[in-house]
Formats: sequence, C-alpha cells, structure tokens
Amino acid sequence: MPVPDKTPAIVTLTASAAPLGERLAIELGGELYRLSAPGVADHLRGLFAVGRPIVGICASGILIRTLAPLLGDKWAEPAVVAVAEDGSAAVPLLGGHHGANALAKRIASALGGAAAITTAGDLGLGVALDEPPEGWRLENPEDAKAVARALLEGAAATLSGDAAWLGGLAVRRVAAPDEHAPVVLTVAGLPSLVWRRQELALGVGCARGADPEGLISLVGKTLAEAGLSPFAVRCVVSLDLKADEAAVQALAAHLGVPARFFPAEVLEAESPRLQTPSDVVFAEVGCHGVSEGAALAAAGPDGALIVPKQRTTEATCAVARIGSAPQEGRKRGKLSVVGIGPGDAGWRTPEATRLIAEADELVGYGLYLDLLGPLAANTPRKIFALGEEEARCRYALESAAEGRDMALVCSGDGGIFAMGALVAELLDREPDKGGVSDAARRVKIVNAPGISALQAASARAGALLGHDFCAISLSDLLTPREAIVKRLRAAAEGDFVIAFYNPVSRRRRTLLDEARQILLKHRPEDTPVLLASNLGRPDEKLTRRTLATLQTDEVDMLTVVLIGASQSRAFPTGDCSAGAEGWRLYTPRGYAKKLEQA
Ligand code: SAH
Repeated sequence: MPVPDKTPAIVTLTASAAPLGERLAIELGGELYRLSAPGVADHLRGLFAVGRPIVGICASGILIRTLAPLLGDKWAEPAVVAVAEDGSAAVPLLGGHHGANALAKRIASALGGAAAITTAGDLGLGVALDEPPEGWRLENPEDAKAVARALLEGAAATLSGDAAWLGGLAVRRVAAPDEHAPVVLTVAGLPSLVWRRQELALGVGCARGADPEGLISLVGKTLAEAGLSPFAVRCVVSLDLKADEAAVQALAAHLGVPARFFPAEVLEAESPRLQTPSDVVFAEVGCHGVSEGAALAAAGPDGALIVPKQRTTEATCAVARIGSAPQEGRKRGKLSVVGIGPGDAGWRTPEATRLIAEADELVGYGLYLDLLGPLAANTPRKIFALGEEEARCRYALESAAEGRDMALVCSGDGGIFAMGALVAELLDREPDKGGVSDAARRVKIVNAPGISALQAASARAGALLGHDFCAISLSDLLTPREAIVKRLRAAAEGDFVIAFYNPVSRRRRTLLDEARQILLKHRPEDTPVLLASNLGRPDEKLTRRTLATLQTDEVDMLTVVLIGASQSRAFPTGDCSAGAEGWRLYTPRGYAKKLEQA
C-alpha cells in the first residue's frame, strides 16, 4: 500500500497571504500551494480527499464550505487548520485529535498568535480519553465525557495499570492485578473507564453461507466463557478461501476490527501447535485446522493459543494471545468500478471521489485519469490504451486478488458502455473458460455509479430526455451490425428519444447516416438533434441540428448524439450562451392539456 503523503499542504488564495504561506511552509516542513480561481475548490477537495493535512491561510468559512460535502469519516480524514492572514489565530477546524490541534499549536507558537483549541479534553487534561493510541481501545467511550468533566473539576481519581499516554493525568496510581488486566480509571460516582490492549487474535472458520448471527453469537459466548473482552480482539483471521464469506466479514464489522486471511500453507505450518487437528479439514482445504491455525499464525511464534477450537454445526472459533512478532495476513481485496462522470469534478459523486482517494492503485485510460487532476496525482496508476479493455479488467481483478484496493476508473457511468459489464462477465466465467482466478472471484466489488454522457448532454441543453428514451452504441466492434440496425428500427418505430454513444470513429463512419435514414421514416425532418462533445471538459461544445441537417462529418468519438422523439421541441432563449447555441431542447411529458386548461 502506498504510504499516504502527510506533508501539510499550506494553501494561500491571495497574493497578500503568500509571505505567511512561505514562512509556514518552512516552519512546518509543508508544501506551498498558491491556488487561484478557477479550480480552488477542486484543488482543496483533491488534497483533502487524498488525506493531506491542510493549513489554509484564509477565512475558516472558505474551508468549511468547500470541504463540507466531503465530510464523512472523522477517523480517516486529515487535519484542517485555518490561519488568519495576520497570523493572529490558528483555528483547528477538523481532525482536532488527528493532528489539527498539534498543528495549530505549532503555528501559534511560531507566529506568536493564539491556537483556538475547542476540543474539551485537550483544553484541560492534555489528553483525549476516548482516543487512546493504536493498539488500545476504550470499552465505554460514551462515559469518557463525564469522566473528563469530573477530572477537570478536580475530582479524585484512581488509575489502575500502566498506560503511558495517560501519564500527564493528576490521579492516584495503583498497580494492575496482572499483566493482561485492563487499564481502569475510576472516579467516585461515575462508571470507570476501561481500556483494553488489543492483544487477541480471533481465528474463525465456517461453512459456505454460514449464518453471520450464528458466528457472532458463538464468538460472544466463547469470549464470555473465557473471561475475555471483545475489545481486546485485534483482528479476525481465517483461511483465504473465506475472504468473501459474509459471516466472517460481518463478525469483523461487529467487533470493529479488520478481517485478515492466510493461505492454507501458512495455516498448515501451525499444525504442530494445534490442539484439535482434523484430517477431515485437511482433506477439504489443505490444512489441519482453520480457526486454531489462523489464530496462531496471526499471533506469531511466541503467541499462544488460549481458547482451543469451539464450534457450532456450521462455525468454529479459537483465540490466541498475540506475541512479539504477529503476522498480519492479507485483507480481502477490493475492486471499485468507478464512474467519474463526464469530466467536471462537480459532476463526480462523493462516493466516487472517496473510492479513488482510498485506492492503492488506479487503472484506466490515460485521459480519464488525467481528468481527476490532484485527486489522482499521488496514487500509482496503470494505464491501458483504448482497445485493451479485457487486459485492463483482468489486471484490476487479479491485483485486487492480492489484497489490494483497486479502482477501475471509467468516464460517465462505469456500467454504461464501460468496464462494469466486462468485470461481471469475467467473474461469471470459470477460470479455465476465460475467467479470472478463484482469488479474484473472491474480491469485493463496488460499482459506483456516475453521471452518464446522455444525462449531461440532456441537462446542458434543457431536458431532451424528458420522456421515454433509449441508448444505442453505434460501435460495431463488439455488436454485429445487423443487431444494431434492428435496434435502430425498433427505437425509430417506438418513437424513443435516442442517445447514440460511440457514434463514429475514424474507421466506422456509415452507421450514423444509416440511422438518420431509418429515423426519417418515422419522425419529421425538423426533429431536434443535439451534438454534445467533451461535456464537462474545457472544450465542451453543444451544437443544435435537426434530423435533416445532421451530418456525420460534424461528429467525432468524443460526441454523444441525442435525437429527439417526434414530440421533442427546440425554442430560442434570449441568452446565446444558454443551452445549445442559445436554444433549449426538450421532450414534453404530456402536460400540454393540463397547462392549457390552467
Ligand atoms: N461510460 C460512458 C460511456 C463510454 S462509451 C458514459 O456513461 O458516459 C464512449 C462514448 O461515450 C463516446 O464515444 C461518446 O459518445 C460518449 N461520451 C463519453 N464521455 C463524453 C463526454 N464527456 N462528452 C460527450 N460524449 C461523451
């Protein structure tokens, strides 16, 4: 996985902020971005989406308004700090406990200004009780606020156990009963706060399609009987064949920990340490124990099995205490088929932006990756040429099978004349019949829809898709020409508005005119036609024609052609920059009668 770039981005929007920007870039070891309109919002969102801490020398409102649509996961998002242009105040806006408070304090001390810290715990205690360091979990975060308040008011408290990050608290300290006991902070009259070291590996196995609730309840019962806390679990582990098992993923989500997987050889290497080895299991999956083997593999050589295999009819679990050299295992790979819309970032969904930002690697056609600008700038990319669609999908699937998070980037919608269907087709085939590997068939697939060219074209020009419509690709590379002509005839007869994708290429130039001839038999010569090219890109162009004046030479492969139905209309507006060359195109939905009665 690429390490996310955590270099603070120092952002200035005005010339007057530049000197302070340069100074802070040096003080904080940051990278200076002098942004200017247009594109400020896109750039800021791109930096945020890839997880870069942002220090904006600008009004906090600018940062808030720009980033608000992207906010979601407070644990994953980067720090954002607004700094007054005169250096008097540094305001941590987001990610207070993920670096923003610390950044604001550094800025304030460098500039002699004030850090406007607003997170309660930080103010007085110097530590956020509900955010222990990695490897620890608080069992009852809901009680943290009340305890912090009591401590701030000077209540007497006792801390049992050793936790370096609580070192600054003014409390009475007592030794923990044993080395595995939790760290407990007690204030009279309030629930004690209990932090657990995440020191357990939970190995599980189950039959295909096992009930998630059954596995969750087996684990709950097993931990309770052994006197173990679910908060002490660090990971759920199993055999790689189980990577796509709903029950295993549901258990990990239930416990709030990652699910990780090992190949059979790694589990088999644990055979000497298994308490309940099984020849039946070996015959089936190639190792003598799944739950015990996985728990031990994750725990490492000096880890120890503390609860041997427990079982129901369809699931097993075992628990090991993690030693000094744990093995992580592989996560389930993910392939996101992401439609990025026609081009403009404003036409891209927040889900698409997030999936691209999270991906380990982007796969696609170079033009689409370039359209992503700063959002894709720091992520490795694998570029495939037009025509290499199968290789592109195979690469994305097989790379995901290695436990990676891949994003297959498509223009418009990834499921409309794009890669989504080819990914599904490859997954639907047996490996020896042109399909992909078994491991690739177990990856998680996410299809993120996007705005397709037909929607963008219709919206720009008015509402040409206002009534029943269809889309036809005029590319006969993959579809026999007779099939295309048959659909053209049916669409013409059915009086659908039609969107032609792939209307021409350098070699294919006759079908568009053939389509025009077929359509002219069923709809009038003055039927509105819209040629929309490079939608959402700098050289976007909308041209209005009619069925009579439509000419193939005006159309290229970056154009989507919309043909109105017999009822579609065009009317001029007073604004020559609106719609298509000042005209609005639409297809009535049938309100005419009602409107005339009004
Ligand atoms: N998945 C895409 C379609 C890809 S097929 C989508 O949903 O939009 C490629 C064809 O889509 C092009 O030949 C063109 O007809 C159309 N197209 C894609 N992006 C476009 C854009 N930005 N402007 C105009 N047409 C576009």
